[in-house]
Amino acid sequence: MYPAVQLLIDGAWGPSQSGKTLNVLNPATGDVNGTVAHADIPDLDRALAAAQKGFGLWKKMSAYDRSKIMRKAAEILRSRVDDVARLMTMEQGKPFGEAKVETAFSADIIEWFAEEARRAYGRVVPSRAENIQQLVIKEPVGPVAAFCPWNFPINQANRKICGALAAGCSIIVKGPEETPASLAAYVQCWLDAGVPAGVISLVFGVPATISEYLIPHPIIRKLTFTGSTAVGKHLAALAGAHMKRVTMELGGHAPAMIFDDADLDTAAAILSANKFRNAGQVCVAPTRFLVQDAVHDSFVEKLVARTQKLKVGNGLDEGVTMGPLANARRIPAMEGLIADAVAKGATIATGGKRIGNVGNFFEPTVLTGMTTDMRAMNEEPFGPVALVARFSTLDDVVTEANRLDYGLAAYAYTSSQKTVMSLSTRVEVGMLSINHHGIALPEVPFGGIKDSGYGSEGGTEAIEAYLNTKLVTQAAI
Ligand code: NAD
Repeated sequence: MYPAVQLLIDGAWGPSQSGKTLNVLNPATGDVNGTVAHADIPDLDRALAAAQKGFGLWKKMSAYDRSKIMRKAAEILRSRVDDVARLMTMEQGKPFGEAKVETAFSADIIEWFAEEARRAYGRVVPSRAENIQQLVIKEPVGPVAAFCPWNFPINQANRKICGALAAGCSIIVKGPEETPASLAAYVQCWLDAGVPAGVISLVFGVPATISEYLIPHPIIRKLTFTGSTAVGKHLAALAGAHMKRVTMELGGHAPAMIFDDADLDTAAAILSANKFRNAGQVCVAPTRFLVQDAVHDSFVEKLVARTQKLKVGNGLDEGVTMGPLANARRIPAMEGLIADAVAKGATIATGGKRIGNVGNFFEPTVLTGMTTDMRAMNEEPFGPVALVARFSTLDDVVTEANRLDYGLAAYAYTSSQKTVMSLSTRVEVGMLSINHHGIALPEVPFGGIKDSGYGSEGGTEAIEAYLNTKLVTQAAI
């Protein structure tokens, strides 16, 4: 049922030249699902040549025809949701329902980009002389190197592929070695929709080897990466040394501000759902729950009650609402953050421990009494841990929200329009969602500022990221 995942180069699936493979594990059972092929430099050279050829073909195709192929890919993906999602749960661990949503939502994203592909407009700038015409033309930047993580095996690659293809670029995707099969099944939808050979390549291997070879390579004109801030800074520096365009979607440490005039039931319901979705392995997950003094205890009670209702287990089992962590190494990471917080005075309101010793299961956890000297309040937990701290005034909470170098997402719950206005100008993030969870739709920008990265993977900005601007100024003679 789980395939031996191969490399996609020049429109054909195949093994790496060396024949090297790596095991893919099931995080719910610890069993080996299957294998994934590992690319080396000769495989990357073939992918680069194919990307150059693919770029020539795709760039020449009209936006109208590219859009048709993109819409077809969305339709095919939608017809395969269950099969793709099952693979995703087996390799990533998220509940089957969540995997289905990710897959179906990826089809929506493709469709939006397909529509937008036809609107990569330039402009005409009024000239200073009667016989001069000044045209601003948008052109695809060229072959793209994309590096995608394991937390949303399809969605992270999909946003990059959609932006690149909508703009007329080809793309080499370095997929996540932990979760390759669902991504390969998704990419097959593009092939079946008629995307020409070389427009999309998919490789796996040693991430550092691949990034260090592809980013400086003269064929590659743009880098896009999703992952940790530390790795993002390293790759952005490499891109800078070779003057390559970049988009960086990096870590976050989202503050969720709950004011004493908030609807607490709504806040607890929406924030807990988003905290524990994908076992907290989400860059925009609410992390620092900053609660105003007067409602602190009642909010914590509601949050804990909701957290205790989660059913942790194998994502393929009926009724499971939270799966295992995708990687075994995140268990000691969670234990370390929690032990440090407790040693410095935090209280475990619920959870706090590993579950069993088969699979990477961890209890959904709420810690209260968090203070800024604790590691978890500074490092991205990237797991199922909600950190609760108190605040007194608007100024205090804005200071805490902006304290870290991260600037990805923030959330707030309040019924005061004055507070909303103040937060919308003062909170330093790329995305601020107030009284609801409204981020990550294809039509709105998605991205961070400060150490959370640069650029956007949603909205019109996400296509602009793959376009060059060219001025053509002409005189009639
Ligand atoms: P990690 O830093 O080891 O890896 C993160 C991702 O970067 C992985 O996909 C990995 O393959 C890739 N990577 C690592 N070194 C690379 C290199 N030299 N070149 C190219 N790609 C490279 O961390 P991890 O343990 O896998 O994940 C935990 C951390 O990663 C979290 O704390 C979080 O900050 C970050 N992360 C963020 C997102 C996101 O959506 N922004 C997604 C996954 C992981």
